[in-house]
Amino acid sequence: MFEIKTNLETIWLRIANACEAAGREPASVRLLAVSKTFSAQAVSQAHAAGQRDFGENYIQEGVDKIQALAHLPLVWHCIGPIQSNKTRLVAEHFDWVHSVDRLKIAQRLSEQRPPTREPLQVCIQVNVDGGPTKAGVPPDQAAELASQIAGLPGLRLRGIMSIPEPAPDFASALVVHQRSLALYEALKAQGCDLDTLSLGMSADLEAAIQAGSTLVRVGSAIFGTRSSRA
Ligand SMILES: *Cc1c(COP(=O)(O)O)cnc(C)c1O
Repeated sequence: MFEIKTNLETIWLRIANACEAAGREPASVRLLAVSKTFSAQAVSQAHAAGQRDFGENYIQEGVDKIQALAHLPLVWHCIGPIQSNKTRLVAEHFDWVHSVDRLKIAQRLSEQRPPTREPLQVCIQVNVDGGPTKAGVPPDQAAELASQIAGLPGLRLRGIMSIPEPAPDFASALVVHQRSLALYEALKAQGCDLDTLSLGMSADLEAAIQAGSTLVRVGSAIFGTRSSRA
């Protein structure tokens, strides 16, 4: 399977081109390879091609891959919804979580983080376009949750993440992503020490980078079309 390597090279090029268009350094954008539904072998091929950060939505599936690939120096990000009964698995196995949107979940993650490990790196998921059923805290509640998370010893707040509805074109994707940027800047202005704006997927990473994304989450453009669940 050369494809993963070729696909990664294409994405690195898209990131570099988008950074150039936005007047940004390519090193200012981190690529998260979203490996949900794909095998540990696919992850290991992406690693061999030079990829280090991987994202998983389904917690048990992610833990299985983390354990299977424990010999590789990978960084694992949980980007999916977290039920209370799954917080321990996340706290014990992942390096990052992008999908924290409730204090209760944050408290459990902090309590369950093994003291032998670095704090869990956290982004608050924000429901930036107000979709009624979607995960994420409403933008006007993000500041309160941020200050609560900042007080939890097992967590280190790094930024915000959003997953807006797919936009039809670059301009409309940019408008929505700029709302996330505005919130991110507002939180920093209020004293939050943040460095991560987790925005953009396979289809809209150029608009996300134009809006200031520091981390794009790309699945299908690296690993191929997902057959189910996602
Ligand atoms: C699946 C997923 C992605 C990747 O989506 P693609 O369209 O495959 O690039 C990014 N972020 C989140 C939160 C996801 O669930």
